[in-house]
Amino acid sequence: MTHRDDAPGDDHDAVAGGHGDAPGDDHDDVHPGTHRGDVPPHNRAATDGGVGERRPPEGAAENPAVRRLADWDADRLRRLADDHGTPLYVIDLDRVRQNAARLEAAFPDADRRYAVKAHSGNAVLETIRETELDAECASAGEVKRALDAGFSGAEIQYTAVNPPSEDLDFVVDAWQEEPEITITAGAEDTVDRLRERGYDGRLCIRVNPGVGAGHHEKVRVGADAKFGVPYDRAEEIVADAADDFEVVGIHAHAGSGISGDDLQNHRELVRRMGDLARAVIADGTEIEFVDVGGGFGVPYREDEPPLDLDAVAAATREALGEVDAQLAVEPGRYLVADAGVLLTRINTVKNAPETTLVGVDAGMTTLLRPAMYDAYHALRSLAPDAPDRTVEPATVTGPICESSDVFCEDRPLPAPARDDLLAIGNAGAYGYEMASTYNTRPRPAEVALSGDDSRLARRRETLSDLTALEAR
Ligand SMILES: *Cc1c(COP(=O)(O)O)cnc(C)c1O
Repeated sequence: MTHRDDAPGDDHDAVAGGHGDAPGDDHDDVHPGTHRGDVPPHNRAATDGGVGERRPPEGAAENPAVRRLADWDADRLRRLADDHGTPLYVIDLDRVRQNAARLEAAFPDADRRYAVKAHSGNAVLETIRETELDAECASAGEVKRALDAGFSGAEIQYTAVNPPSEDLDFVVDAWQEEPEITITAGAEDTVDRLRERGYDGRLCIRVNPGVGAGHHEKVRVGADAKFGVPYDRAEEIVADAADDFEVVGIHAHAGSGISGDDLQNHRELVRRMGDLARAVIADGTEIEFVDVGGGFGVPYREDEPPLDLDAVAAATREALGEVDAQLAVEPGRYLVADAGVLLTRINTVKNAPETTLVGVDAGMTTLLRPAMYDAYHALRSLAPDAPDRTVEPATVTGPICESSDVFCEDRPLPAPARDDLLAIGNAGAYGYEMASTYNTRPRPAEVALSGDDSRLARRRETLSDLTALEAR
């Protein structure tokens, strides 16, 4: 599959798996559990006692910087698979809350928004709303979901990328009821089309800062002309718009997968946005916020250290400099990735000469990231006796008739057997969200966990759901 034109959204994904330039690509696939005990740098006890000392953040023990696939309770996951069938997405709302709490701790006085497109399920949106994050929406559909989940207009940003007319109509209608909604425009055409619809509410201008972050070309959007108005013209476009709208902010999002290595690009983006904000304010437009986007990376590989969010926050503040406006951030993946796993059952084990081929009931239609971005996802055998089995290389594939329908190649896994349950890690972001019905395959069910409770958050699609749209 190639998705040059129709890649959904601008910026999914992060770390490419197997063959690219992503951090961690030089590691061989690693079975979860063999590389536990990574200590994130800011959780290490500082020994020098000097000015550079970093203490473990308050509550680090109860709210670790990452939840690994090996940390999930195997018994519980096996029970959920037995109760609900597979493939099954599991989303742990407590972990979403923890991620939101760490975001708040790192960016206490920033406007914090959740990029809904990472996981737009109602259970997640309601949880996010309770944590007092706002909703950053990429489509009319996401605005509707945010409203349904109880976000007020003041808590909703709609970022329009080449918006279809239906989307603008919907959001302008919603604005009649919710006059505090903010629309972010990334093209002068979008500004004109809002004017034509009589919109004169809160407007933010998305800028192409000319620097990109992210580790796969499909997720670097900062330097892509598709996203935002050209940096050099932004000041003028803001000044023009200020005549007809309430211009409340400027915005840039550079793509996904900001890692420790990538802070240089992030700093550069933020520095440019700080400069632009100062220029805009000097021109007399009193903006409320400077939104520097999301893209905070999560470690997909078990031996990859988590992002030091406090360091990202410090670098962001420093690069922004003094600005008479609020900093805004809008991560998606960071809040939900490690809150989700995908459970899938083995139905076929084939000892081919090249490798052991393992067929499972989830495929690229369930979790697209490996096929789309060569993304790495940790795999864990939940067979009760897995620890006693010999480890051997396995290639895990789904039921879809496409050669890209592969979760991993030659990954060391406990010897697989038919009916074993496997868990796929970090499936909470861009997982269910990008599921499709290709091959007329119903989308999976999803269970939401909260404390000891679990509930069906989305039922499994049925074959009749799939054919319901057809004229006969
Ligand atoms: C996708 C997106 C985000 C979130 O990206 P993550 O990598 O999930 O953090 C933020 N802002 C905009 C405009 C986006 O399109």
